[in-house]
Amino acid sequence: MYSESSTIAAISTSMSEAGIGIVRMSGEESFEIADRIYRGKRNKKLSEQKSHTIHYGYIEEDGETIDEVLVMLMRGPHTFTGEDTVEINCHGGVYVPRRVLEACLRGGARPAQPGEFTKRAFLNGKLDLSQAEAVIDVIQSRNDYALKSSVSQLKGSVKRKVEEIRSKILYHTAFIESALDDPEHISIDGYGQTLERDVEELLDEIQRLLDSADDGRIMKEGVQTVIVGKPNAGKSSVLNMLLGEERAIVTDIAGTTRDILQEHMNLHGISLNIVDTAGIRKTDDKVEKIGVDRALSQAREADLIIYVVDSSLPLDENDRKIFRFIAGKKSIILLNKSDLARRTGDEEIRQMCREQGMEEPPVLSVSAKEEEGIEELEQAVKEMFYHGDISFNSEVYITNARQKHALESARQSLEKVLESIHMDMPEDFYSIDLMDAYESLGTITGETVGEDLVNEIFSKFCMGK
Ligand code: GDP
Repeated sequence: MYSESSTIAAISTSMSEAGIGIVRMSGEESFEIADRIYRGKRNKKLSEQKSHTIHYGYIEEDGETIDEVLVMLMRGPHTFTGEDTVEINCHGGVYVPRRVLEACLRGGARPAQPGEFTKRAFLNGKLDLSQAEAVIDVIQSRNDYALKSSVSQLKGSVKRKVEEIRSKILYHTAFIESALDDPEHISIDGYGQTLERDVEELLDEIQRLLDSADDGRIMKEGVQTVIVGKPNAGKSSVLNMLLGEERAIVTDIAGTTRDILQEHMNLHGISLNIVDTAGIRKTDDKVEKIGVDRALSQAREADLIIYVVDSSLPLDENDRKIFRFIAGKKSIILLNKSDLARRTGDEEIRQMCREQGMEEPPVLSVSAKEEEGIEELEQAVKEMFYHGDISFNSEVYITNARQKHALESARQSLEKVLESIHMDMPEDFYSIDLMDAYESLGTITGETVGEDLVNEIFSKFCMGK
């Protein structure tokens, strides 16, 4: 096992032909190691310089100059990890940062494991676990919403909320415990009612957080969108129109998009992960059938279904099947090929929805060929997922499955407390479940997690973070 106190080093920037590369060291010895490999003017020693200063010079190895650098010195505890930290800004590219890293390792550092800088920040109390997890979310964010919610978590929004709930739970547990220990002086008569009211409030708060998880996931990962429709309706063309480039294969032979294409697009801050699917129709062709089945199973999992209808043709049995399939799902119907003479319009769609006993989804006229109708589609998506409102409010969003799971366990425990109150159980029953809820919530901030879980969480991080 690696020692937690050793000095670690890693390349923190991406290994590509960039202007600058950064090699970071953290740990007790980082200043001394930097001294061993750095040469500045008048033999200045980095370990004798002030904290939070930048120094120009060279990284050298066996008398050979590796690169011209700027070295940033930061003494703990006022650093990201809480430890002494040195960041060497060298030239970017795939080779130079690696040579500088090797020099650090020869100087006495050891290679950092993925996420080890952030893990140290967590172990040194600079971040709680929810903030540490937000670090990776910030790095991975792909749209404005995701970034804003991750930064708010990084600043401690989830941590504060969870701590608030936990402190209320702890207050009640402490009260019950002391009353049980000292029944002569602390009366617990009628305490069930007070507790019931407070637990109900806590449950509401937890529920609000859980409700935010769905929006949170969509914000973070994007709206999982599947395009369905009969062969040749124009699904690939609609996808190309949305992406603004020719990526899906567009042909006029029915049944050519047999496999699944996944594309990612940004729509004014909302991310859509769009899957174009094989056209849905009854078929005897084995390969095509696999595509159709796959299309249906993708659509089952989707947040949004975009159903492309060829409006130059009348609706048929295959369409009926698709209508049946999308009933009850969030979907948008596109009447494509609006540039051609119309054989299917709003009225036919309404009729079909009535037949299927389903609520009519938004119906939009588009022409993928003429690229008409994109704005209306964007607006419809926004209304569906953000109630037309694209501004990010300062609410706390849960975007992490682990945190969601912890909230669900806490909810369960608090529901048990309510049950015990309703059944007039003895007070020690309350406190057992209250403590369970307290513990579950503690896994969000990291106060009640074991080493294994901590290691697992940080191992998912990227190198150098
Ligand atoms: P898919 O099988 O549903 O993916 O359909 P494609 O996107 O491959 O399109 C099938 C055919 O319809 C191609 O020849 C397209 O050029 C044509 N097409 C697609 N959209 C439109 C449109 O809006 N207007 C017209 N006139 N033709 C279109």
